[in-house]
Amino acid sequence: MQTPHIIAVIGAGPAGLAAAESLSADGFDVVVYDQMPSPARKFLMAGRSGLNLTHAEDLEKFLSRYGASASWLEPMIREFPPQALREWAEELGQPCFTGSSGRVFPKAMKASPLLRAWLARLAAQNTVFALRHRWTGWDETGCLRFETPQGEKRVAAAATVLASGGASWPRLGSDGGWTHFLTPESLSPLQPANCGFRTALPPEFHEQFHGEVLHSVTIGGAGQSARGDVTITRQGIEGAPVYRLSALWREALRRKGRLQITLDFRPGLTQEILQSRLEGFRERESQSGRLRRLGLSPAARWLLREAAPTHSGAGILAGAGILAQHIKSCPLDLVAPDSLARAISTAGGVRREALDDGLMLRQRPGVFAAGEMLDWEAPTGGYLLQACFATGRRAAQGVKKHLRQNP
Ligand SMILES: Cc1cc2nc3c(=O)[nH]c(=O)nc-3n(C[C@H](O)[C@H](O)[C@H](O)COP(=O)(O)OP(=O)(O)OC[C@H]3O[C@@H](n4cnc5c(N)ncnc54)[C@H](O)[C@@H]3O)c2cc1C
Repeated sequence: MQTPHIIAVIGAGPAGLAAAESLSADGFDVVVYDQMPSPARKFLMAGRSGLNLTHAEDLEKFLSRYGASASWLEPMIREFPPQALREWAEELGQPCFTGSSGRVFPKAMKASPLLRAWLARLAAQNTVFALRHRWTGWDETGCLRFETPQGEKRVAAAATVLASGGASWPRLGSDGGWTHFLTPESLSPLQPANCGFRTALPPEFHEQFHGEVLHSVTIGGAGQSARGDVTITRQGIEGAPVYRLSALWREALRRKGRLQITLDFRPGLTQEILQSRLEGFRERESQSGRLRRLGLSPAARWLLREAAPTHSGAGILAGAGILAQHIKSCPLDLVAPDSLARAISTAGGVRREALDDGLMLRQRPGVFAAGEMLDWEAPTGGYLLQACFATGRRAAQGVKKHLRQNP
């Protein structure tokens, strides 16, 4: 049993480290527990494809990205806005730049130099790390329980910040196991966010084409569309435009069980232009050959073959209009979101109503929650990390206030 003056932070991801940084800067004794052998594995993974820390757009627009949770997160993000996150990274020796889309990245692109400098600052502020410590709930006296390589450990903490992440990419540490230790009323079910979707296409299609990218297509469904590269997976589709529409599509699938989306394989060309190009090829060119000449990939041609009637001979010209229409709007049935484990982030988690303004669990005074384990979601674009930092810092403020009132 450790001395009861420490603040326990459970989870060494960005939310937990942000809370630990704020608390240790004010002289609190902080111990950060994590079940993995090293901190912030998902943060490091996020940096593999360019660490998108935040976004430079107007703050009102920025806040609107959190949808139904915007009013909840707004005061926390106003307290630690995108500019503050950028300055924080720069103070740690990582200058940032704004990309053409408004996304903000450290110039190094990776997360590792930033994490190294951050951990050094935390060490200088006497933050202690207890790694390979898996939190397994509370005992009957309210002590935290941990599974460690040395056996079970119990910790009496003055306050606790839960920052144990969502449940996507569980091999990086966040596996959602913490849901067993909180009351069901305090939680919304964890669901995939920024995720791919499974299709109703036969398995042969996915076996043949998984890994193939449909470049710069426009996908539309449930009243919205997005353009970008769509990747075919072993069971479905994924990629930036799919992630962008994923919250809407997940909801549509929950209501209807099936959703028909459309793919525009040539968003830069009108249906009329496509039709005249299809009609303009050599007379003896087959329908499939005409599609190949239009630059459509084998997977796109397969999908069109399923959707539009195949013609030969004189029928090809007669069918060119219909085919052009399908190139602009090829139907594809989705049956379910892809698994939570494969998603970029997690929706659901600790509900707003279960927490006070300082992010303290109403049913467990002295226990706070932050980061992706809270019930909000946002698209990719830096909104995820920004909210993790802002809620981590808010939880730290909550701890300080709680300890002032309950010395
Ligand atoms: C491939 C990928 C790329 C991404 N890129 C970006 C990006 O560019 N920009 C962006 O904004 N977001 C990005 N994200 C999302 C972002 O990384 C997460 O939103 C963020 O890391 C969540 O922070 P967190 O601190 O809440 O949780 P996490 O980073 O998940 O950290 C939680 C920690 O808690 C620990 N833990 C969990 N359960 C226990 C337990 N029972 N006991 C002890 N420890 C436990 C875990 O080991 C983990 O270290 C990306 C995600 C992925 C998967």
